[in-house]
Amino acid sequence: VFISFEGGDGAGKSTQMQLLHDHLVTERSVAEDLILTTREPGGTALGESIRELLLHGEDVDVRAEALLYAADRAHHVSTVVRPHLARGGLVLGDRYLDSSVAYQGAGRELDAEEITTLSLWAVDGLLPHRTILLDVPPQTLDERRGSAGRDRLESAGLEFHEAVRREFLDLAQADPERYAVIDGTLPPEEVHDQVLAAVGEVLSL
Ligand code: C5P
Repeated sequence: VFISFEGGDGAGKSTQMQLLHDHLVTERSVAEDLILTTREPGGTALGESIRELLLHGEDVDVRAEALLYAADRAHHVSTVVRPHLARGGLVLGDRYLDSSVAYQGAGRELDAEEITTLSLWAVDGLLPHRTILLDVPPQTLDERRGSAGRDRLESAGLEFHEAVRREFLDLAQADPERYAVIDGTLPPEEVHDQVLAAVGEVLSL
């Protein structure tokens, strides 16, 4: 089973993935090696190099940026995600193709449908069984993050992050079967309870 987590930077994706992982291991006795926690960009050596280029390198042309994310995802899916799923494992992904549609599509103003087509081609059609969208207003994310330690992309303006948020919400509305939208401004424990409810069906909990 494949579950992806989406949302703005600082929405709580990694915290919630960790809480879900720990719950499955300690409360549900799921073997730790059955759960793969991974992230995009990154998740492979090549991916981490691409991540470094994207987040800390020079300004990248928007189409080149979209292709780099797609290349990262293609490699990640074929060498890590699919093999783990084939072994019957559970994959928890920190971002997946919806991030490309939201960031490169809406944020960078490329055509969202083209980004969807590119992304689906890159992963040969693999979609998550469930996508958890942690929805937090950009203003709140900005306050959470503070000004320290921002990478190149995180310093983009509020308008950019508003467009990204809107696109995530539109994607979720278009596919309620796959998406669960959770209010990420709630306390982490409450968000965690809602995450459990959202994945219960696909994980047969
Ligand atoms: O959530 P994470 O810290 O991994 O995101 C890294 C950065 O990459 C964020 O600043 C996010 O805005 C950006 N990103 C992007 N397009 C993607 C995925 C992430 O611009 N497809």
